[in-house]
Amino acid sequence: MGIVVQKYGGSSVADADGIKRVAQRIVNTKKQGHEVVVVVSAMGDTTDDLRDLAEQVTPLPPPRELDMLLTAGERISMALLAMAVSSLGHEAQSFTGSQAGVITDSVHGKAKIIDITPGRIKSAIDEGHVAIVAGFQGVSQDTKDVTTLGRGASDTTAVALAAALGAEVCEIYTDVAGVFTADPRIVPAARKLDRVSHEEMLEMAASGAKILHLRCVEYARRYDVPIHVRTSFDTIEGTWILPDTADTEGDTVEQAIIAGVAHDRSEAKITVVGVPDKVGEAARIFEVLAGSEVNIDMVVQNVSAAATARTDISFTLPREDGQNAMAALAKIQDEVGYDKLLFDDRVGKVSLIGAGMRSHPGITAKFFASLAAAGVNIEMISTSEIRISVIVDEGQIDTAVRATHTAFDLDADEVEAVVYGGTGR
Ligand code: ASP
Ligand code: MG
Repeated sequence: MGIVVQKYGGSSVADADGIKRVAQRIVNTKKQGHEVVVVVSAMGDTTDDLRDLAEQVTPLPPPRELDMLLTAGERISMALLAMAVSSLGHEAQSFTGSQAGVITDSVHGKAKIIDITPGRIKSAIDEGHVAIVAGFQGVSQDTKDVTTLGRGASDTTAVALAAALGAEVCEIYTDVAGVFTADPRIVPAARKLDRVSHEEMLEMAASGAKILHLRCVEYARRYDVPIHVRTSFDTIEGTWILPDTADTEGDTVEQAIIAGVAHDRSEAKITVVGVPDKVGEAARIFEVLAGSEVNIDMVVQNVSAAATARTDISFTLPREDGQNAMAALAKIQDEVGYDKLLFDDRVGKVSLIGAGMRSHPGITAKFFASLAAAGVNIEMISTSEIRISVIVDEGQIDTAVRATHTAFDLDADEVEAVVYGGTGR
């Protein structure tokens, strides 16, 4: 039997009892004959608490020191977990990201993994030990400083290690039983999916489904790593996320069309009003935004009014980049000659995702009709081959998600979604 990488999230190791429960689970996997590599997050809300603490000391902590601080969270949980596994009579060794060979670039707070050299992890498991690795951290190739990979990135550590070690599966243990057709906190009748393709999961993660870190899914897709998302609070099977070709053959037709409904509350909308309809104006606007490191999501431009030869351009972006983007655009008002800027951070995005959309006409019409029937106004629309997203008023997100879920017959007959833990913070 091969290598299994198991990642345990903060809610699974929130306290000493949780850590002991996880240790037992690791030992059970070991007893089945697997070599086990564990990636662990910080206990409970530790990362948030450490951030808050830093902000009490200074509103703008130096990024290098913030990373030093935040990586301490995972060092606590990894060491405690190794102790708990040892107490069950099995050898375990914990490793920081740096010791585990997670090599990154030097961008503090959102470093990218550029290489994995898991020599020490390999030796540990070759000797029959359980290797426990601190998630969400690495070491910069250039500066040799400790880096973090972005909030929620322990998932990415786990998948990257699974790829580098050639693991047979990367199990992600969380506080819900798997990937659901919608967030069970909003739609109690959401159903657990047995299987989802990497492609669908990528769209779901990019559309705000928080169950997996986006980069972890990108990584899994690129290196064909099968992921099994499940809960550490129960032994039931969760959701398998598999290469696109190994998809849902044999599953119900319904499942093949729509995988689920995702939502995102972290976006804002900016409208540039009265842009002269001339060649190069849109390019100039988006060049300036790119120069300020603002990631744009949806863009809409109308035909210009004949009388004025001016048009409005609206786009969405992460809310946290809002002020930055407004300031950058204000600087080019005279140059571009637009009338004014509007900022709206009371919007949200609702997305319908499914690989089966490609071959089934009428999905868009049904989606919009279900929103209309629920009294939800659509502000913007964007689509990919397997996704339709709309921007709606923030106050209507939950209504829109529920209405869409019902319209596409995704509601379960019996409520099965269980949220086991976590504060949702
Ligand atoms: N502890 C880190 C965070 O809260 C990493 C993780 O949990 O994946 O973002
Ligand atoms: Mg997480």
